[in-house]
Amino acid sequence: VSTPPVTVLGLGPMGRAMAGAYLDAGHRVTVWNRTASRADDLVARGAVRAATVEEALAASEVVVLSLTDYAAMYTVLEPAAPALAGRVLVNLSSDTPERAREGAAWAARHGARHLTGGVQTPPSGIGSAEFDTFYSGPRDLFEQYEDVLKVLTGTDYRGEDPGLAALYYQLQMDLFWTTLTAWLHMLALADANGIKPSEITPYAAGTLGGMEQFLDFYTPRIEAGQHSGDVERISMAVASLDHVVHTARDSGVDPALPAAVLRTFRRAAAESGEEDSLTRLFEVFGRGAA
Ligand code: NDP
Repeated sequence: VSTPPVTVLGLGPMGRAMAGAYLDAGHRVTVWNRTASRADDLVARGAVRAATVEEALAASEVVVLSLTDYAAMYTVLEPAAPALAGRVLVNLSSDTPERAREGAAWAARHGARHLTGGVQTPPSGIGSAEFDTFYSGPRDLFEQYEDVLKVLTGTDYRGEDPGLAALYYQLQMDLFWTTLTAWLHMLALADANGIKPSEITPYAAGTLGGMEQFLDFYTPRIEAGQHSGDVERISMAVASLDHVVHTARDSGVDPALPAAVLRTFRRAAAESGEEDSLTRLFEVFGRGAA
């Protein structure tokens, strides 16, 4: 197995975990970070600290970017643009699909090739094949460097469009943040009623675990445009969530989150009739903001 040199630009929690994984796998690792001291531990483990971005780019053909977003990439790389020619940028900074497309085109204008990545694990999962990173960009480039990418996580190649990995990542984040927020709201509501997070969380985990059967049941019906209320009706969902809003209010807990969801339920009910399934929301959302 070849272990080409790798440069990591950006040493937040993610970049540090990534540089560490490459060191563990026996690669020569060059690092650069705006705040240079964040490289200290990695240098102690054998990484080379580049004094400048140019030096970091010159050290390795493969350059992993782990920055806050694409704007940070331009800030870091624009001044060193002449050193980009011939580099392979593995951009693991998250951002929108459109910014990923612009970033890939920008890299190409400077003679660099670009793979977009969307990492689906916190730093603790870096170095484990248990988690996947979405990739998109030129297929030949992905295949050529897949072994190097696999040092970080498993890989899930989504296609040539540089925006795809970012899109799949954002789709997961759409689900992740709203779900995590719903859980935090549930904890606050439980807490206001004297129930500790550790007491209620096993119930939360049970409900989330049971979600898969709902997804399996509804997905083919949604694809078929079948939203009949034979198993549940929007009117029931409206009444049920209204109870949640009132329970929150009665408990002195901010009801804004369930109240916002309740507004979308009511919108679906108004648009499509209360006899439909809640899955009608899929079409209501797709028509844009009310
Ligand atoms: P951070 O935002 O903590 O760190 C990002 C790095 O970007 C730091 O090295 C920071 O430098 C650098 N940076 C930010 N702005 C600039 C700038 N204007 N100029 C120069 N350098 C800049 O992010 P993480 O390490 O947590 O994550 C990196 C990427 O991975 C993000 O896009 C994030 O969304 C994504 N991600 C993170 C996960 C996580 O759990 N942390 C999970 C999945 C994806 P400095 O040290 O000097 O501030």
